[in-house]
Amino acid sequence: MISHLVRNRIAELAQADDLPAYVFDLVQLDTQLAEIRAALPAAVQLYYAAKANAAPPILATLARHVDGIEVASGGELAHVRATCPELPIAFGGPGKTEGELEAALAAGIGVLHVESVQELRLLAAVAERMDAEIDVLLRVNLSIPVGEASGAGPALVMGGVPSPFGLDPDQVELCLPILGSAPRLRLRGVHAHLASGLAADQHLALSAGVLSWATRWARRNRVELTEVTLGGGMSVDYADPENRFDWRHFGAGLADLVEQYPGVPLRIEPGRALTAYAGWYAAEVLDVRPSHGSWFAVLAGGTHHLRTPAARGHDQPFSVVRTERWPHPWPRPELLDRPVTLVGALCTPRDVLARDQPVERLRSGDVVAFAMAGAYGWNISHHEFLMHPPPSFHYLDG
Ligand SMILES: *Cc1c(COP(=O)(O)O)cnc(C)c1O
Repeated sequence: MISHLVRNRIAELAQADDLPAYVFDLVQLDTQLAEIRAALPAAVQLYYAAKANAAPPILATLARHVDGIEVASGGELAHVRATCPELPIAFGGPGKTEGELEAALAAGIGVLHVESVQELRLLAAVAERMDAEIDVLLRVNLSIPVGEASGAGPALVMGGVPSPFGLDPDQVELCLPILGSAPRLRLRGVHAHLASGLAADQHLALSAGVLSWATRWARRNRVELTEVTLGGGMSVDYADPENRFDWRHFGAGLADLVEQYPGVPLRIEPGRALTAYAGWYAAEVLDVRPSHGSWFAVLAGGTHHLRTPAARGHDQPFSVVRTERWPHPWPRPELLDRPVTLVGALCTPRDVLARDQPVERLRSGDVVAFAMAGAYGWNISHHEFLMHPPPSFHYLDG
């Protein structure tokens, strides 16, 4: 549901000819994060995966609630350091360059997720050369069944299947001798991020599996676990914005795991589920027209600004913000009570934001406000395609 705050701002932007636009509701984000933090056991660290959306006002709002930020590149590392210098950083990602490892060591970040044997060797060499110390987590690619999805659609499983992310269990064994002769690297424990789109029960099942594996591995190898990271991937249901990830249930389940594995500090690092709901992308309807029995609304915007529905193949949820602006003497194109496909202005049939969606009324000059555009939206989109101007950005803080 679109709030009055967001709807009014979008109507003002339409009036001021300042569309297309991204509008972020920082009040909603602040409230939601406070609820999520309150639902989690105090012993569980909450990090935010910056790649979901690292806009400075978003990070500044999140900084009030999270324990740190997970970054996945040297660019994100520099950006997050400059934007929230006080927050601890965890650095992950499957392809870190030597320069990025140097930057992580120079910045004195909290912890680095090692994704391969080669990366561990390189990190050890760079740390030795720079005479700098760093904590590491070994990222493992474990095979753990996640069970059936409940409503939020199928989970995207990355663990237990061939992937460039993390170490197979037998590769983890190869890391220990390397760590043994690398005094500047401190092994903290294990990192896992094995799936996305997980409902709370699925995530808990996966987390229990990770902890069971990690504690057995640590005991076998006489490693003291001072951290196990359980990843992100909490589900976001674009088909049903009201079907939210159940943070209370998840928090209660994590509390059980904390009890079951005393003395093993836990961390989670969600991205999408934290910021998706706070963002809106609004674009004006240029034209409403029939085509071979279907109706299309063509927007002054598109997937070059909000690639999420094209990337995931879903229908982006939306609200229509009606306007009375129609400066022309001819009739205003309109449709009543029928399904419409909302497309952008790009010359490709893939520029679809939502397909065959029922609307009561839609006219040229109205505005479509796409919900759930706060994560993996603008920052994953192909902005340069067709050289349309960028949207404007607005951050509402009450
Ligand atoms: C992308 C990513 C996350 C966040 O995933 P979401 O699905 O946005 O919650 C967390 N950890 C790692 C290692 C990632 O690559």
